[in-house]
Amino acid sequence: MTGNRSGRHFLQIPGPTNVPERVLRVIQQPTIDHRGPRFQQLVRDILDRLQLIFRTDSPIIIFPSSGTGAWEAALVNTLSAGDKVLMYETGHFASLWYTLAERLGLDPQLIAGNWRTGIDADAIQRILEEDSGHNIKAVCVVHNETSTGVTSDIQAVRHAIDSAGHAALLMVDTISSLASIDYRHDEWGVDVTVAGSQKGLMLPPGLGFNAVSEKALSVTEKATLPRSYWSWMEVLAANQTGFFPYTPATNLLMGLQEAVDMLLGEGLENVFSRHMRFGEATRRAVQAWGLELLCLNPLEYSNSLTAVMMPETINADDFRRVVLERFDMSLGNGLGQLAGNVFRIGHLGDFNDLMLMATLAGIEITLDVAAVPHKKGGVQAAVDYIAAQVQG
Ligand SMILES: *Cc1c(COP(=O)(O)O)cnc(C)c1O
Repeated sequence: MTGNRSGRHFLQIPGPTNVPERVLRVIQQPTIDHRGPRFQQLVRDILDRLQLIFRTDSPIIIFPSSGTGAWEAALVNTLSAGDKVLMYETGHFASLWYTLAERLGLDPQLIAGNWRTGIDADAIQRILEEDSGHNIKAVCVVHNETSTGVTSDIQAVRHAIDSAGHAALLMVDTISSLASIDYRHDEWGVDVTVAGSQKGLMLPPGLGFNAVSEKALSVTEKATLPRSYWSWMEVLAANQTGFFPYTPATNLLMGLQEAVDMLLGEGLENVFSRHMRFGEATRRAVQAWGLELLCLNPLEYSNSLTAVMMPETINADDFRRVVLERFDMSLGNGLGQLAGNVFRIGHLGDFNDLMLMATLAGIEITLDVAAVPHKKGGVQAAVDYIAAQVQG
């Protein structure tokens, strides 16, 4: 797109998300000395208060990386070549984590899924019960599958591991759920929580996180997968004094401090209920349009994004192109096997009711313009729902 466009772009993909002005202002400040006292204070403050967001008393390791880097870090710090790992095919991201595990020389098993429902914890329990020798060293799952808009019950997975009396570590990808959907590292007995900066945390891409339980830390010494850049122990040792073993993403960490301020200032419960409202209003709009939600089970609806199925005669990417060209709004594409069949509405991060209304209006107008068979009234359904919520 050449030339100037007035107003602002709507970045309604499910991550990276809109970065608040407050965070942008902090990030654009001059870079500071990452070995100086100001940085030291910054790190101590972030590491302290970040625990409130992960809901943990355990250490959180921050990498200058994408979420994919944080996936890799979780595996290489805890496992050895040939180790069996149990994974669950909730969708594209779970499949990518599986491929990464294969490439690292692990022996991952992927429980097949249909990309429309969440994790069947009973299936995990059955496999663990059969593994009497405890050869499976870790169970790795995605909390909120961003390719499908399906959220899985992590407590049920914990319960399945415990009921099987199994010693496997529990690792959870929360890249598109942390700070938008309720998540509790300690209470849910998670060993490694994997997160990224660019979704619920409202930052640009570039930070990866591992929150690590005592049990996860205790196995790192015996875990023999090669690791250097990703070594938890190196980072934890340097963090003791408020520093990092290599140049960290200084300005993103400054932004993280601001984002943590904003999230704790709003209150996590309020953050979650805001996302619940956006999720429900969006689903009501989609259903009023007569379009189908990809997620089949209402108990598993994601509150950070909604994946919408396109009628078979229309390519979802053609539809998204019209939305972008005419309304300067980016919607998420269908990933992997869903390419062309699905578009995804991101409604997480720095987002409010009127931004949601604009997003839904842009979609409803384009359904008309692009001649997608649908019914009117999606935006109205969202208006009615939000009005009822505001009245309490
Ligand atoms: C975005 C996302 C990832 C990938 O993160 P990158 O930063 O692109 O590497 C992984 N898992 C989930 C659930 C995601 O939403």
